Amino acid sequence: MVKLHPSIDNGFGAASPDFAGGTLTCKCASNPVTVKIKSQVAHNHACGCTKCWKPEGAIFSQIAVVGRDAVEVVSGADKLEVVDPNAAIQRHACKDCGVHMYGRIENTGHPFYGLDFVHTELSTESGWSPPEFAAFVSSVIESGVNPESMGEIRARLVELGLQPYDALSPPLMDAIATHVAKASGALPS
Ligand SMILES: [Zn+2]
Ligand SMILES: [Zn+2]
Repeated sequence: MVKLHPSIDNGFGAASPDFAGGTLTCKCASNPVTVKIKSQVAHNHACGCTKCWKPEGAIFSQIAVVGRDAVEVVSGADKLEVVDPNAAIQRHACKDCGVHMYGRIENTGHPFYGLDFVHTELSTESGWSPPEFAAFVSSVIESGVNPESMGEIRARLVELGLQPYDALSPPLMDAIATHVAKASGALPS
């Protein structure tokens, strides 16, 4: 069976009702970067884009959003660097192991300003919101996946309950379009 992501391949549990967050730790054996997430996450999903960090051998990343005020670097801040300063999402990665600890949007006009992007699999706590859909599925081809495998990959995502989309999910695409319409005046703000 096609392997998508180690936290997804065997299915996943439901979110814990009163889950209040946890600590993300990078892959460094010593002096790791740790980031405290002080709330539950939202919109967790499998992402096929080429920008999100993926664990070794995974086709997809698993990524969620959380309010930026709920994200606090606890240790190893000096090891963090922004992967691509020109990207809309500034992915803060550990210089030593390469793991992305959080992605932050600094453009206040961006539809998702105020939200950080995090990989909950970097935490040992259980109870995080599980993935809900798969985004940018066709983009896995850009990382070298054989296009002929796409039928199998999409079927497996559906089997796991993750509806595959080639952009973000419809609610998120609608949120972006609404933001753009309000900014342009096409909709009242
Ligand atoms: Zn590291
Ligand atoms: Zn992505």
